Amino acid sequence: MFVTLNASTKAAEKQVSQPFRSVLREPLPEESLSYKVDSVGIHLKGPVFEYLVDPNTGCITNLEVRRDDEKVIQLSEPVDLILDDYRLSAKQNSGETVLEFKSQHQVILKTTGLLKPQANNSSAIPYTLQSTFFDDGVVVSKVTLQPKQDLVIHRNVSSRLSAKGKFHSYLHKRRDQHGMGSQSGSLPPTGKALPLTTLTSCLEVFSPEAALALFTDSGATHLSKAGLPTAVINITQNDGVTADVVLEQNIINISEGAKPYLMKAGEELTFRTGLSLAPNRVPHPRNSGLRMFTWAGDQKHPYPTHQEILDAARLGFTLFQMHRPGTPGKPRPPAGEMKRVIQQVHDAGMLFIWCTMADMMYESSEGVQQMREQNQWKLWQGFNYGGHYQPHMDPYCNMTATCLSSPNGLAEYRLKTISEMLDKFAVDGIYVDDNLAYPSCPLHQEHQHPHPVYDSLIELHDMSWRRRKLMMEKCPHVVLIDHCTTAMVLPVMSAFDMHLYGEGYGSPSLENYWNFFGITKSLNGQGCLWPGDDENTRTSAAIVYNYDLLTGGGQYSYLDWRLYPKKFPYAKGVADEESLYIRTYSTAQANFGIYESQPYIFAESEKLFSTSTPQTYATIYRNRTWNDYLIPIANMSSQAQTTSLEIHQPEAIKLKQDQNYLVFDVNQHTSKTASGADVSSALSNLEIPGGSLRLLYLRPVSDSHPMHLWGGKRLSESWDAAQKSLRFEIDGPPGLQETIYIANCRQPALKVLVNGQPAAFALDASQGIAFGTVTFTETPLQIEVITETEKGSCLPLEKIKPDQLFLHQHQK
Ligand SMILES: [Zn+2]
Repeated sequence: MFVTLNASTKAAEKQVSQPFRSVLREPLPEESLSYKVDSVGIHLKGPVFEYLVDPNTGCITNLEVRRDDEKVIQLSEPVDLILDDYRLSAKQNSGETVLEFKSQHQVILKTTGLLKPQANNSSAIPYTLQSTFFDDGVVVSKVTLQPKQDLVIHRNVSSRLSAKGKFHSYLHKRRDQHGMGSQSGSLPPTGKALPLTTLTSCLEVFSPEAALALFTDSGATHLSKAGLPTAVINITQNDGVTADVVLEQNIINISEGAKPYLMKAGEELTFRTGLSLAPNRVPHPRNSGLRMFTWAGDQKHPYPTHQEILDAARLGFTLFQMHRPGTPGKPRPPAGEMKRVIQQVHDAGMLFIWCTMADMMYESSEGVQQMREQNQWKLWQGFNYGGHYQPHMDPYCNMTATCLSSPNGLAEYRLKTISEMLDKFAVDGIYVDDNLAYPSCPLHQEHQHPHPVYDSLIELHDMSWRRRKLMMEKCPHVVLIDHCTTAMVLPVMSAFDMHLYGEGYGSPSLENYWNFFGITKSLNGQGCLWPGDDENTRTSAAIVYNYDLLTGGGQYSYLDWRLYPKKFPYAKGVADEESLYIRTYSTAQANFGIYESQPYIFAESEKLFSTSTPQTYATIYRNRTWNDYLIPIANMSSQAQTTSLEIHQPEAIKLKQDQNYLVFDVNQHTSKTASGADVSSALSNLEIPGGSLRLLYLRPVSDSHPMHLWGGKRLSESWDAAQKSLRFEIDGPPGLQETIYIANCRQPALKVLVNGQPAAFALDASQGIAFGTVTFTETPLQIEVITETEKGSCLPLEKIKPDQLFLHQHQK
């Protein structure tokens, strides 16, 4: 059992929701690594995975990864190192493993042994293997071969990972590129192999359920000729959901008959190889509710005003990132503004995120200045962006490139600034910009890179993991966000909770989008779609919400440059209606409580439900606390289309046959009632604008008394039969005005009180829905509906109007 019961899941039984602002601050589930030795071997157990190591060889002989109670990855053979006829896993090898280091989060094992050949015609090869296991599932092994006699390698030196798991796609990152545009696609069919010939860094297989990667810092160190495979994926079985895969990366590869590779006696061959896996931790309940707003500002307006912070919260955002805040802990001038901003972000119910870059630092930072003064700059120097970056609208951001490996004390300096930041400011997380394994560092000797061309993948993970541990210690609810763009490289993303991708570039087809970016779900992470700033190409907000709501929600982020284009005229292609889409769909997700819900994603639910028209798609979210549903039905065609949603297996999505449901159109504000057996009837012949969606909400109705239907996040609700009054509690961003809809209002003799005060509500008699506008505050609103009132207290009759987005879409 790996699911940790937290307050929000416990509340499910009582139909009480926690306000999201407190869910945001629930500590992260436990992340640790336990170490145990028994007669079977050395067990290293993380939150959802367990490694088994053979102490005789240091070989990883087993690995299991679980998602909830289901095993999603299982090794089929030991993780092997192969040198012609030698195998690390071979029984005849002899050696000894000692525990070099152990903490609650990391274990280092060191094996000293002899690789022995199958037949006794060759000599044994002394080796050491130092394996570092991290609590995020990553393991990095440093292999050193020390032959006592000349060793002639005729075929190859390689690492091999054989596993069965929920994989349908692959990605291959090169050591000489940063990872965007990595070769990727569907796994080959049963019995087929996929050889790769580019300079291999990381080879991974994945699906939204699970992922597994094999990586090395020394891929293709020696090939007998160009064009030989550097890596290969062999598929022994693939049914489209589960695959048996063998991943191999070659350190040395020699074609048949070519000149062998000679290792002289006394020479060493050293390389590092590693694994990364997903899921690697227990999901946090806040995940899909994490919606990020970015404040980039400019030199004139580096800090947001109070009103601008409130604007972001009222658009439905829950994370507020300052993109150019200065070195961690040393806010940019006027530095006194930082405490105000953080306090106001918190008061508005959001978390505050400080942005840093994976390899750039402020020129003004103490560490950079010191290294320059001491003439030691080369030890940290990097070369991205030509070594220097300074945006024209914000010269304070005079950034200098440092090496991605964070060598020679740079990692420690970076961590020190974060530690100081957390001592001084109530920062809730970090966004790491450009978190890509770049290969561009010509100072490989000064920085101890293993090869002149190296992507620092292993050190990048190490730095990210150390940052995570440091921040979790000081901020148990920390949110760590990486900017991975289209480089979905598992060990690079492993130590993060959110992954920002997209950049407003044209998106692939929906299925490909889900198959590719779905890897964030395998990590139990939250995706984050960047709307684009000064790039020329982008996807419209309407279409992005099709992607967002069909693939889990909460992903579309936004930024000040787009929200205030007059004040910050730097973003391209800002459309007037963007904020209308954001407010509408973010609020809908917040109101429904998408963080409490189970999604049934379109691509994986064809047997459960389907739409009737090509290019239309639906995903269904079921709220676990309230047993209600949110259903986006999207039209990917640019033309308006009519479609129906047919639910084939209502019981599979927990719709009850004998239960009545009120089906409410979130934008049009119309309602229908349908039985669970026949919900499809209320979901038929839906007209959907081109490139947009319809959003339907289903709530079970069992009694004839009034009930809260829509508007605000419902936290609790109770009907007092004796008093004939309904009480419910709703929450929303402070200052946001929203219309509240109350169903089952059969007669106008009603009184609605908001925080005890009579409120101006009206009744749409044709729908039996009372409605009125409320303004949210920093604490939830108490609403009371009294159905038997003294004479003369009747709601005025009025027809409900559609929302602004609906009117906007239908005004043409
Ligand atoms: Zn370097």
